[in-house]
Amino acid sequence: MRLGNKVALITGAGSGIGRESALLFAKEGAKVVVCDLNGQAGEETVTMIRSSGGEAAFVGGDVSKAADVQHMIEFAEATYDRLHILFNNAGIFHADDGSVVDTEEAIWDLTININLKGVFLGCKYGIPALLRAGGGSVINTASFVALLGAATSQSAYTASKGGVLSLTREISVEFARQNIRVNALCPGPVETPLLAELLADPDRRQRRLVHIPLGRFGKAQEMANAALFLASDESSFVNGSTFVVDGGITAAYVTPE
Ligand code: NAD
Repeated sequence: MRLGNKVALITGAGSGIGRESALLFAKEGAKVVVCDLNGQAGEETVTMIRSSGGEAAFVGGDVSKAADVQHMIEFAEATYDRLHILFNNAGIFHADDGSVVDTEEAIWDLTININLKGVFLGCKYGIPALLRAGGGSVINTASFVALLGAATSQSAYTASKGGVLSLTREISVEFARQNIRVNALCPGPVETPLLAELLADPDRRQRRLVHIPLGRFGKAQEMANAALFLASDESSFVNGSTFVVDGGITAAYVTPE
């Protein structure tokens, strides 16, 4: 078991990448604290884990609210005694997030608050818990858009993910000597509910597909596999990394026909 005797907290674990990671972490022996704003979805993930013999508990909350995040961490320690793995995965991609000249201030604030401040709060309250456990692994979800500009603008989302990447690097330096590793997972486009609306449109789908050398979108399970590596001791010398899992998008200037 790659995560035996570990306790992991995953935000946004009611869907997509977070849910697949919760299932995989539990299969690899972790006790999983499933966090989500959507109580029903989070409880479903817990039921899925328990029905395959794993251990998990749900705690609700909004990652953009300090009191909620503090409660999530307290819940993890109260339920499983310690916390070793913190996966700050929750995020949104708003349909009205577009060009910098069109995007409403409210959409900007909402996106930055969940995607960037959510990671800040997760680390602010989660890292002290990891220190109490003697160290651990933090995974913050950024995106390939933190590395490349896109003609199909999503200004608030892109800015939020750029912030996650920089914040991750800084935290990884600060806590390295205290046995805490912090890495940023940068997925390429993955077929999850987050992109469902966008990818349902054949034109918008194709416009993105042409940029992926592997010729397809990623799967949530493929991100979970990467997160598992970063969470486990197998990645013991991986710290402060921009861990890109994007089918080759960021390597390509022109993709093969
Ligand atoms: P998803 O929409 O399938 O799942 C996100 C989950 O987060 C949902 O269960 C939702 O209820 C929860 N959530 C949303 N706001 C929250 C909040 N304020 N507090 C707590 N929970 C909240 O999304 P996904 O595709 O699995 O994305 C997971 C992460 O991966 C996000 O940070 C996203 O930006 C990032 N990402 C996704 C893709 C992609 O193509 N799907 C690409 C790059 C990065």
